[in-house]
Amino acid sequence: MDSTLAQKFHDQIVSGARLCDYTTFRLGGACRGLIACQIPEQLELAVKSLADARLPFILIGGGSNLVVSDQGVDCYVLRYVTDKPLLEREGNDIIVSGSTSLDALALFSIEQGLAGLEYTSGIPGTVGGAVVGNAGAFGKQVGDVLKSVTLISKTGTRSKVGPEALGFTYRHSNLKERDEIVVAARFALQPGEREKFLEERAKILAIRHEKHPDLATHPCAGSFFRNVEPTSKAEKRQAAGWFLEQAGGKDLKIGGALIFEKHANIIVKGPQCTADDVYQLSCKMQQIVKEKFHFDLVREVRFVGKINSLPKNPSEMFW
Ligand SMILES: Cc1cc2nc3c(=O)[nH]c(=O)nc-3n(C[C@H](O)[C@H](O)[C@H](O)COP(=O)(O)OP(=O)(O)OC[C@H]3O[C@@H](n4cnc5c(N)ncnc54)[C@H](O)[C@@H]3O)c2cc1C
Repeated sequence: MDSTLAQKFHDQIVSGARLCDYTTFRLGGACRGLIACQIPEQLELAVKSLADARLPFILIGGGSNLVVSDQGVDCYVLRYVTDKPLLEREGNDIIVSGSTSLDALALFSIEQGLAGLEYTSGIPGTVGGAVVGNAGAFGKQVGDVLKSVTLISKTGTRSKVGPEALGFTYRHSNLKERDEIVVAARFALQPGEREKFLEERAKILAIRHEKHPDLATHPCAGSFFRNVEPTSKAEKRQAAGWFLEQAGGKDLKIGGALIFEKHANIIVKGPQCTADDVYQLSCKMQQIVKEKFHFDLVREVRFVGKINSLPKNPSEMFW
């Protein structure tokens, strides 16, 4: 750890941090140092300090969409997550920090009687991560109601842009290819019936509880592959899990990486599982679908750091 940084951020630095403690897959080795940022001001100061000192870094949110190398990453990690939601209502808009959990945003919008984000109830991770990946469920996604985002570049320059600048498509925004961080977001919602939304939330949470792994016993990163686009060989968007199941993927296993018993598109961490096991299992899943249905499943989950058997194809990696 750089000594100037250690002094400047002594309250926020987690010394000896291992990324397995900050990802829902519970995978990931060490980093040069982890700086925990909860509020925009802390994030901006940390970004500027690292940029000025020319120290490399990556940013994570809730770590719920990541498979991190067991060798860790040779850089600093900024973790932008707050335990106190930073939310404000202005008319029918909600302004929220990128560090706030998406579920806290969903609950706040419901309690305010505002429609447009109920379906995000129970999705893990932060608002920042959700904007980057255009997170969603039940055919809706956060990009549909996003009005603007405040971004900060990796060198510390602030900007504000509307959704048209983010190139939202299914589970994608162009922020995945840009070095910019979502500091805060503004969502434009519609007035509606609070009680109805509360009921809907309860139903959604029950469905998620029933169908998704309990992260305490089955660490994972949610659906591994995107559902299949309507423009592909499949005529309408279909669950990647359906193709995997039809191709016989439910019993696949490599090393400690296993398929979740209730969902063929979810890889879970078993005993002695490594990030490499997860990568290899995902390749096997792609292969069986390709053999049976002749198209390539596209990964939703992102790999971070050096994965031994990952070919050196930069489009597969990030940072
Ligand atoms: C059990 C389970 C269920 C899930 N269900 C769903 C679902 O129904 N729908 C769905 O869409 N997803 C789902 N996911 C996936 C995941 O929760 C989402 O992709 C989530 O939005 C990721 O947010 P995060 O903060 O955890 O991002 P991370 O995993 O920390 O990061 C993901 C990417 O976003 C970037 N990032 C994070 N924060 C910021 C920021 N502030 N600014 C810029 N870049 C940032 C990171 O650099 C990284 O590239 C599920 C995951 C799990 C484990």
